[in-house]
Amino acid sequence: MKQPFDYEIIYSSRKTVAIQVSPDGRVVVRAPKRCSRSFIDAFVRQKESWIQKHLSRFEQQKAESQAQRQLSLSDRERAGYIAAARDIFSSKTAFYARIMGVSYKRIFIREQKTRWGSCSSNGNLNFNWRLIIAPEEVLDYVVVHELAHRREMNHSKAFYSIIESVLPDYRNARKWLRDNGQSLWTVI
Ligand SMILES: [Zn+2]
Repeated sequence: MKQPFDYEIIYSSRKTVAIQVSPDGRVVVRAPKRCSRSFIDAFVRQKESWIQKHLSRFEQQKAESQAQRQLSLSDRERAGYIAAARDIFSSKTAFYARIMGVSYKRIFIREQKTRWGSCSSNGNLNFNWRLIIAPEEVLDYVVVHELAHRREMNHSKAFYSIIESVLPDYRNARKWLRDNGQSLWTVI
């Protein structure tokens, strides 16, 4: 029997099988290298209702965010978002800086069309408040990304391996931003 959705299999040295549904409707099965295709198919069939539930939830969120397209923020609402972003980014930055053993100076919350975050050479961090509308793993990725610049002021392999040591699945969040980042601008 064919599933009503396609899925992608990513083999790695992991020991267990896991299913991931991303907001763009992609279903990814992560499996150990020697796992047979028939086992994976059976596993997916078993989890079908769980997958469907997530897919329809993301579908609904997409419909809702499109409905928001017409909305515009009042100054008060915008200030509210910025204040919320300041709280969220302050606590996340403190949390991850401790884990990563890095320091930073001040946190600025900004609204820049082309940037999600930045790190200055003297250790000040900027974050785009619109990220608070994104899934939490995306915020975590941007925070860890900027903090990793406290060690590597570049986007080298060494830089990304620092990120990976803290967030092994960071590629999903990075991809989400590339694919869906524009959707954070539908409310203006
Ligand atoms: Zn960077």
